[in-house]
Amino acid sequence: MSNNLMADLLLPDIDKTPEYYENLYPARNLPEGARVTRIAPSPTGYLHLGVLFAALVNRITATSTSGVFFTRIEDTDKKREVKGGIEDIIGGLNRFGITIDEGFISGDNQSGIYGPYQQSHREEIYKTYVKELIKQGLAYPCFCTAEELAAVREIQESQKIRTGYHGEWAKHRNITFEEAKALIDEGKSFVIRLKSPGNEQNKVVFEDTIKGKIEMPENDEDFVLLKSDGIPTYHFAHAVDDHLMRTTHVLRGDEWISSVPKHIQLFKLLGFKVPKFGHISPIMKLENGAKRKISKRKDPEAAVHFFAEQGYMTEAVLNYLMTVASSDFEDWRRANPDTSYKEFKFNLKKMSVSGALFDENKLIDVSKTMVSKLSSTEVYEKLTAWAKEFDSEFYNILIADPDYTKAVFAIDRDVPKPRKDIAKWNEAKEYFSYMFEDLFVADFTLPENISPEDAKAFLSAYKSVYNPVDDRQEWFQRIKDIAPTIGFAAETKEYKANPENFKGHAGDLSSVLRIAITGRRNTPDLCSIMQVLGKDKCLNRIDKVLESI
Ligand code: GLU
Repeated sequence: MSNNLMADLLLPDIDKTPEYYENLYPARNLPEGARVTRIAPSPTGYLHLGVLFAALVNRITATSTSGVFFTRIEDTDKKREVKGGIEDIIGGLNRFGITIDEGFISGDNQSGIYGPYQQSHREEIYKTYVKELIKQGLAYPCFCTAEELAAVREIQESQKIRTGYHGEWAKHRNITFEEAKALIDEGKSFVIRLKSPGNEQNKVVFEDTIKGKIEMPENDEDFVLLKSDGIPTYHFAHAVDDHLMRTTHVLRGDEWISSVPKHIQLFKLLGFKVPKFGHISPIMKLENGAKRKISKRKDPEAAVHFFAEQGYMTEAVLNYLMTVASSDFEDWRRANPDTSYKEFKFNLKKMSVSGALFDENKLIDVSKTMVSKLSSTEVYEKLTAWAKEFDSEFYNILIADPDYTKAVFAIDRDVPKPRKDIAKWNEAKEYFSYMFEDLFVADFTLPENISPEDAKAFLSAYKSVYNPVDDRQEWFQRIKDIAPTIGFAAETKEYKANPENFKGHAGDLSSVLRIAITGRRNTPDLCSIMQVLGKDKCLNRIDKVLESI
């Protein structure tokens, strides 16, 4: 009875009951084994690599069980909130092609019957459940000020006692209705705490779906459920929301692992089914030989925007993250080179327990393979989209003559074994520079075994036989035909048998031509390059070199 009075005293405006919400948010009608997962980011600025990773793990867990993946915005800490923060995170997931079934499906659009999916709009729900706990004698008001709490902590520390609001240190644990009323009448503010029935000597055991069996002491701390401004703490909002949104698997960062005893306790006291927990290890960096969490302050790649700016394809980043997420993904990828990662049968048990290292070289490798599989038209579309946002000079060059640009990208591409060259779009300008007059930088530095005189003799001879419509074989035959006339072997074999008889071989001469046309020693197929560049540009570049020798 006095509990009911207390409940009405503390939360006079709440007239709904938990049953009301239980009916409003019925159990989901899903096939057996379907997992309901979610991410619950705070809108604190930008999409962090860890949030993208968690989203991927949650998404693929739901997908591989025909379940549901939803998003919920945890915006109870208004101090940390950044304008446009929801759009940054949800929009970022959208750009990465992470499908969101429910919740915030875009920066300004929620869908689904379990909403609102934003904690700041759920105050009445939290208060209804807190009120119920007060009625059951499982929660009470605490009027301690920050100074009082700090003083208690100091005493606990000096006596080497476990700090916190528990047992005999829980000053207002047994506060009566009359005492509470008197303090409220005095205008004192209060928080609402759980009256924890837990005992530190007992153990809570749970099976983490990622880390395995975990054992921890039961929670005996009367932790805060509702802050003085009526806003719930993470612990309380998590229990109420994940219950009412019918989450089956809470897969979140492992910084929450130590709070699990509190969470299990809350679910049980509230009469909720305890969900499965899985704690995701953070992505790590190596610094001076030691592993540390990837950090917003030190590592540019902590913000997913970094990958967009560099021009990594979103699919490449996700495929790379899949290699981090699952130890058997790479084997699967080798066996299924062209299948979307979404088809991979993901198993939480295969996740790293200790935290995988971020390895940009591996990302580059994954990325090169993916870029090599794109058609020239796809490269055109993706690269121009990137350049439009990040390099307007290059963008204008690329779009000046789309057919020409696509022909450039088709070199050594659209073939059975395409070249693995670029990993990210910010490398493309330099990589393709010799194909665009505005970017081409001539550099006629010859290999040591070729003299300028021989180069000159060769290029002069070549000019007079050059035929832009030659196929590869004809193209090389012309070089071979010139070779003996200036003391070079037509065939490499011939040269290798008697190197002292020759200045070099036809291959060396094709290098001279390559350097004259592209300024590089190493390029994709030169015959194709010359065909795409066309006769005028090729002759012009050869002439310039001849003038300079
Ligand atoms: N807002 C919490 C965080 O960003 C969510 C954790 C969870 O997924 O429950 O860490």
